[in-house]
Amino acid sequence: MHATRRHSLYHAELLHASGRTADAVREHGGRVRQQVFGNKVFVRGVLEISNYCRQNCNYCGMRRDNKAIDRFRLPLDIAREIIFNHLPPAITDINIQAGEDVVAVRDIVPLLREIRERTSLGISVCLGTLSSREYDMLREAGASFYIIKLETGNPLHYKEVQAPGTFEKRIAAIRYLAQTGWSVSSGFIAGLPGQTTEHMLETLQVLGELPLAGNSVSPFIPGGDTPFGTYPASTPDLSLNAVALMRLANPRRIIPAVSAMNLVGRDAYSGAIRAGANLTTINLTPPDARRNYVLYQRDRYIMDQDRVLRAIRNAGCEVSTRSMARWLAEQRPGSVPVAPSNLETAARFGEAA
Ligand code: SF4
Repeated sequence: MHATRRHSLYHAELLHASGRTADAVREHGGRVRQQVFGNKVFVRGVLEISNYCRQNCNYCGMRRDNKAIDRFRLPLDIAREIIFNHLPPAITDINIQAGEDVVAVRDIVPLLREIRERTSLGISVCLGTLSSREYDMLREAGASFYIIKLETGNPLHYKEVQAPGTFEKRIAAIRYLAQTGWSVSSGFIAGLPGQTTEHMLETLQVLGELPLAGNSVSPFIPGGDTPFGTYPASTPDLSLNAVALMRLANPRRIIPAVSAMNLVGRDAYSGAIRAGANLTTINLTPPDARRNYVLYQRDRYIMDQDRVLRAIRNAGCEVSTRSMARWLAEQRPGSVPVAPSNLETAARFGEAA
């Protein structure tokens, strides 16, 4: 009990740190990343194939009640053309992403098979909470990395922000995916309306205890056509400190620098890599479709290959030529601790800072 309280206190201080303390926390996160992954950063491409969604999350512009966007499903021939003929050379993994749209899930299966057969790309999907049959179908088609965000680790807060389905079902989905051979990544939104410091600490703890291969921090950005449109965005300090603490608690997990970092502060995207992130994403979605893929706001900061490579260089890192999927496969079986804890290090660091 006493030890838990000590960790909580240190995390609260470090989560809200600024100035030299924040710089030191993030440098520490970067050093831990360096120890496990060296200076190599994975580069994946994301293709957003549908903005239909049956969920109604208060923080997302693609929520089903938002009538202000045009809904689309990307024709498969366009997706094929991009993946097989126009892929930037730095990309080693592809992420297929959509709102929670079972039609898109069904339609994408043949393309996943084709990617598996024709390329050595690692295949990630981010398609929402589905049935076990649908997860199995995607896995059998060749995908191996499932991204399913928790958004907040507090069950009541989860309900308040209308995150997808229920907290319990989301946790059950993560466990099912991990048990059936997927590498699973989950994460949370820093600065989400209604979120307390305790919620964030609880979320970090819940994520640390789940059988995950990856973790993420997305800074909250208010979306114009959402119930949370008038709330303030997350701050650079909170967003980057959360990345650093996540890395300290989970040295071997894949942690992305998310494109929304570009909206919270100048240099925050490279800052996330310096704080411990080791995955970047090039957006491959055609501009017409991208306009309506409004996870937060229409003015998204689009990461093309040049911007991604510049950010990696600015962080003093290099592009990994090995895919993320391959790296994960090489860690198995059993050599990746489910939740390696470096919280003691964080706590000791808090005393010194
Ligand atoms: S966050 Fe995901 S599940 Fe929620 S409304 Fe947006 S696209 Fe749908």
